[in-house]
Amino acid sequence: MKELLSGIHQFHSQVFKQEKDFYSQLVGGQSPSTLFIGCSDSRVDPTIITQSDLGELFVLRNAGNIVPCYGASNGGEPATIEYAVSALGVKDIVVCGHSGCGALQAMLSPKKMEKLPLVKSWLNHAEATRRIMEENYSRLRGAEQLEVAVREHVLVQIENLQTHPAVAVKLQRGELSLHAWVYRIDSGDILAYSSDDGRFASLTQLDRRAATKRQVANVRRARKA
Ligand SMILES: [Zn+2]
Repeated sequence: MKELLSGIHQFHSQVFKQEKDFYSQLVGGQSPSTLFIGCSDSRVDPTIITQSDLGELFVLRNAGNIVPCYGASNGGEPATIEYAVSALGVKDIVVCGHSGCGALQAMLSPKKMEKLPLVKSWLNHAEATRRIMEENYSRLRGAEQLEVAVREHVLVQIENLQTHPAVAVKLQRGELSLHAWVYRIDSGDILAYSSDDGRFASLTQLDRRAATKRQVANVRRARKA
């Protein structure tokens, strides 16, 4: 807590005062371009890994970057998605998983959750991922198993997003794009899924034009599903 208090003091006395014009613009309201759905993991901060400013990302974080299907949860997730899409009018939704995800590791090893009943219950929303791993990747173990699970999991969450009426309406109008990303803690890189080749590829290795094309491909996949 000492570090937090020190940080609060530093932010208020230095950062906020130096950037007063910027912060005063935020008083009038928000108009974020993107809903960023990520994991609660302390090593994966959406604004830092995308170098975004305050006001640019509407962020939803939970254990395992899970998007429950519409009607499956009365928690904050569906309300946050509906507000971002219908009230704020975000143009993009990113679901970003990450390497070394503890939530997905727990999902793959249910015995570790015996003393964590609420985590176990929450991870029931990731049952589709667990079944995909069990039935399609049963030969994998360890780090390789987790890496594949992280990728499959973000694709399942993209499918789940489309069960939300607010999302379905905007997709049908062509006013919303969905993006499946995986952040690598070891390299600081982000991999994005493309339906063109059904693979994840590094966003930092692509030039801007190719990255835009890849995003368009993601929309096509989303609308076909
Ligand atoms: Zn995680």
